[in-house]
Amino acid sequence: MGKVLKKHAQVVVIGGGVIGCSILYHLTKLGWSDVILLERDELTSGSTWHAAAGIHGLHDSTNISRIQHYTMKLYKELEAETGQGCGIFQPGSLYLAQTENRSHQLHLQAAKAKLYGMNFYEISRSEAEKLHPLVNFDGIQTIMWEPDGGNVDPSGVTAAYAAGARKKGANIYRFTPVTATIQQKDGSWVVETPNGEIHTQWIVNAAGLWGREVAKLAGFELPLMPTEHQYFVTETIPEIKKMDRRLPSIADRDAEYYLRQEGKGLLVGAYERDVRFWAEKKTPLGFGHELLDDDLERIEANITRAIERVPVLNEAGIKRVINGPMIWSPDSNVLFGPVPELKNYFCCNGIIPGFSQSGGMGLLAAEWIIEGETKYDMFAWDIARFDTWADKEFTKSRVADQYTKRYSIHFPNEERNAGRPVRTRPVYEMQNKLGAVMGLSFGWEHPLWFANEPGVKDSIGFTRQNWWLPVGKECKMLRNNAGIIDISNFAKYVVRGKKAHEWLDKVFANKIPTEVGRSTLTPLISSRGGLAGDFTINLIAENEYWIFGSGMAERYHKRFFFSVPFPEGVIFESMTDNICGFSVSGPKSRKILQHLTNTSLNTKDFPFMRSKRIELAGIQVHALRISFTGDLGWEIYCNTFDQKKLYSALLDAGKEFGAGPVGSRALMSMRIEKGYGSWSREYSPEYWPHEQGMARFCNMDKNFLNKAALEDVLRKAPREKMYLLHLDESSVKKSNADATGGEPIFKDGIGIGRVTSGTYGYTVGMSLALAMIKNVRPGDDVYVMVLGKPHKATILHEPPFDPKGEKLRA
Ligand SMILES: Cc1cc2nc3c(=O)[nH]c(=O)nc-3n(C[C@H](O)[C@H](O)[C@H](O)COP(=O)(O)OP(=O)(O)OC[C@H]3O[C@@H](n4cnc5c(N)ncnc54)[C@H](O)[C@@H]3O)c2cc1C
Repeated sequence: MGKVLKKHAQVVVIGGGVIGCSILYHLTKLGWSDVILLERDELTSGSTWHAAAGIHGLHDSTNISRIQHYTMKLYKELEAETGQGCGIFQPGSLYLAQTENRSHQLHLQAAKAKLYGMNFYEISRSEAEKLHPLVNFDGIQTIMWEPDGGNVDPSGVTAAYAAGARKKGANIYRFTPVTATIQQKDGSWVVETPNGEIHTQWIVNAAGLWGREVAKLAGFELPLMPTEHQYFVTETIPEIKKMDRRLPSIADRDAEYYLRQEGKGLLVGAYERDVRFWAEKKTPLGFGHELLDDDLERIEANITRAIERVPVLNEAGIKRVINGPMIWSPDSNVLFGPVPELKNYFCCNGIIPGFSQSGGMGLLAAEWIIEGETKYDMFAWDIARFDTWADKEFTKSRVADQYTKRYSIHFPNEERNAGRPVRTRPVYEMQNKLGAVMGLSFGWEHPLWFANEPGVKDSIGFTRQNWWLPVGKECKMLRNNAGIIDISNFAKYVVRGKKAHEWLDKVFANKIPTEVGRSTLTPLISSRGGLAGDFTINLIAENEYWIFGSGMAERYHKRFFFSVPFPEGVIFESMTDNICGFSVSGPKSRKILQHLTNTSLNTKDFPFMRSKRIELAGIQVHALRISFTGDLGWEIYCNTFDQKKLYSALLDAGKEFGAGPVGSRALMSMRIEKGYGSWSREYSPEYWPHEQGMARFCNMDKNFLNKAALEDVLRKAPREKMYLLHLDESSVKKSNADATGGEPIFKDGIGIGRVTSGTYGYTVGMSLALAMIKNVRPGDDVYVMVLGKPHKATILHEPPFDPKGEKLRA
């Protein structure tokens, strides 16, 4: 019989691995002490106990780097606070580049480190040889040094979080498996265990290897799949035994292994190409402190490469092999945040570098639960980036791809093919025949660009790739004549009913149209007053509104929409599956469309931002005069079953006018030429509306979701602002690369901002970047770190394409 459980709590955390314990600790750190952790066995009984527990600070994603740095710093503080040892070794990490692309990646990371004040910089071979005399640096092009890299003791860290949490009032019940989680009418939960039940406001699923099973208790599925993972530890190595210091760890990612000192020997692990899944259907309930059968043959190729780099390994005997399971999401990032369809159910599952990230994950989880939102934009980690389309088959294929390419560079614009297609629309085959190179957006296949023939694939790299010229052709075709862009990916919702206006007015910041055919652009405000989204709302018929937003944020936005109760009689539906759309845009778009309809499309009959239900090519469509290209154009929406017919009609009619299909990469280029921001790039909850030029779309004379938070931020001066930059052509030509997003920006050697989106502006002949920058003015010169190297750039006074919006309104 276990300890008698408390009956009530603010939060019940399920799972006593490193993540669950960190979340518990941070909940108490942020002031909630009435919190409980339930662990079915001993603490650390999942992946945690057998981890290699290496810690790194740097990552391609800036926010992940921030989280990892916080975590690395926290371990020492945790030791001091709790008296519990965390087994911290920080002898540093050496990052090696064997290829030009890896060098670009490391230089970019070093530039980011400088911007964010993180400790990561390039060193020479002779400096590296002093730091790690056992490494053969032949063939290495670039070496970076992270002085704080190292490893920790997994059990020590978990125990320290637990001790810290207990000190601040948390209760931990071991040997208490959760057997049921039952949502109550008021949104609270009852958690059942063999030792009794607990009534709680919030549940946190931190059940690691059992995340899927615990989710099922609440009636939902998590896209997770476990794999085996192996590392081994050598016997004592005489050269290491002689040393009076610990050696740095080695990140030789081109060779696909990791290596660090363990005791007086070495620890080597690998994400091998021959991946093995484990417990595909269900993680066994009784599994705990067992290991899986080792099979070093599978990682032999990786070990051989490790031996070439660190020759003393060849002579070393193997002391122990660890083969343990770890559980992955389809993109290997954590599934994080409240489940949008449930009240007060938080997930933190599928975390791979648990020891690099535990502190940051715990802090952000506690912030989200207690303060309603994290201070960093977590969209790339949000559980809402997947939905039911990420089924078992998709998850398994993506996990295999992620595991085997764990150390491959994730290039800008790279699309991975594993598990696809999962969601297609009727025109998919037609687009393939037209040469479409497809991308994946919230599960949907959509054309990125059109090659001359079917079957062409994207090449990948940091520099300009095989799509660079064809995308330019598409842009020029559209700007000279017209183009037809599949925009079915946009999220589309309908709100119907007499009180539809009332609900919309309460949710969105701008004035909601009251005249049929009128539209408005409006931000959605986040809990901290930032930008949770940007939408077009159109009154299509009496008491019937259509809302258009970012497709990839469809599940994310549910949290906001469903937080405002629907008045009686109001119906809200997503139409993303049932309705498809094409943007027909460019100076000849009116002529093309006029060919297909009797409705007059002249400006006086069909002005900018207005909409009509019309018949086009014999199909009933909803036409909205708006275009994200910044050019004259219409968005045409039809029922999904009419999509093929409409596409054929548009393409046929377009031919006569020199128009053809255009992909989303061209659209992205053209919207930047016009200076338009885009969700998850320029618009994110981290940014305030007046930093993004969006404050004018907030009507402060009415009440709306999170208005008080917005009032708060509007009282403050913008911390930075969005600007459009023109990169110096000669330096861009030399590196054969444009900015892509994330590149730091410096002025007089001081970090002042970062690129949010970059492109070549083909129709204005300029390499462009949208960026968030502080302390600058239009006309100023700055340096953008494309490929991690300074590229001169000028801040533009206005967008180079149609700054007065004359073409848009023509
Ligand atoms: C071989 C190997 C090497 C690794 N090396 C590293 C490394 O070098 N660096 C790094 O950062 N990461 C590494 N990892 C990954 C790291 O181990 C994980 O990221 C981390 O342990 C995940 O912790 P967790 O708390 O999410 O899950 P887990 O450790 O799986 O913990 C989940 C806990 O939930 C409990 N639980 C499950 N169901 C219930 C229930 N119904 N009721 C109550 N409790 C329940 C389980 O008993 C378990 O204790 C490695 C992993 C492996 C397998």
